[in-house]
Amino acid sequence: MAINLQEVCNILERQTCPIHNKKPTAKVNGNKIEINACCNKFKKELEEIMGNEISKQTDDNLDNILDISR
Ligand SMILES: [Zn+2]
Repeated sequence: MAINLQEVCNILERQTCPIHNKKPTAKVNGNKIEINACCNKFKKELEEIMGNEISKQTDDNLDNILDISR
């Protein structure tokens, strides 16, 4: 199952911290994503977005697999 981590990074880097008005950096490191954010609160939010994105991509992949096997 291929998850496009680079795309998840791009989504994360489009976010802005609501408190500090700063953008985070996110980069792919192996099969993980490293997030650098201005504060822990924002980092937590980003991790949540990351989790949602990955499960969304997993669902999409699952749909594709089911389509092929049908
Ligand atoms: Zn912040």
